[in-house]
Amino acid sequence: MKCEIVRDLLPLYCDNVCSPESREAVEAHLQECAGCRRELEELRSPLPEEKRHGSGDGASALKTISREWERGKWKAKLRGAAVAAAVCAVIAGAFLAATQGFWFPVDPESISITNVRQLSDGRVLYHMAVNDDKAIREIRFEFDGEGNAYFVPKRALYTEKRMMVGQTGDSDLVLDLPLMNEYARSRGYDTEITRAWYGQGEDAVLLWEEGMELPDASSEDELSWAARD
Ligand SMILES: [Zn+2]
Repeated sequence: MKCEIVRDLLPLYCDNVCSPESREAVEAHLQECAGCRRELEELRSPLPEEKRHGSGDGASALKTISREWERGKWKAKLRGAAVAAAVCAVIAGAFLAATQGFWFPVDPESISITNVRQLSDGRVLYHMAVNDDKAIREIRFEFDGEGNAYFVPKRALYTEKRMMVGQTGDSDLVLDLPLMNEYARSRGYDTEITRAWYGQGEDAVLLWEEGMELPDASSEDELSWAARD
């Protein structure tokens, strides 16, 4: 990396707000470049004004900044920092959008519901698996006011592999109808739920419908789900 770029990044590096990639690149450069190391030391040594004011009030801090701004050296540095910060923000924004910010429904065709069974207290247990090995971020509950409840697993566009034990995507889950009805009512849907689906649209997978004959859950299930009440 060029010294110019490194010096633009140094203020961010100093404040620990760089991406890990930038950080690594800066550190690699610093090992080989004495000039940039000096620049970093200078950045890290506090300004005389700051020293005197300590962590003083905002007004004096502002005065300090405006005074330092007048000094040409700092002008250039802050300009560099502003440019680098803008670049970092764009990169960070794109990263967040791809991995965090926007979640998309999982294709219902990749969802399988198996081993649907009923606990003695009426709750329905089932195994939900997504047939790839990627993580799910959340399951949204949606209703249509005609008795249909939709469970919509969502994930980021680029998502990490499922690694944590118990992370949703290959696990037993519980359908608690009274609770679901209560939740639906709280969202303004007064119709009792008569069908529950995974996913939405034509490909939605039926999880449960009213009148469905379900096998009893095992005593092992009873034990482990009683503990979670
Ligand atoms: Zn350099």
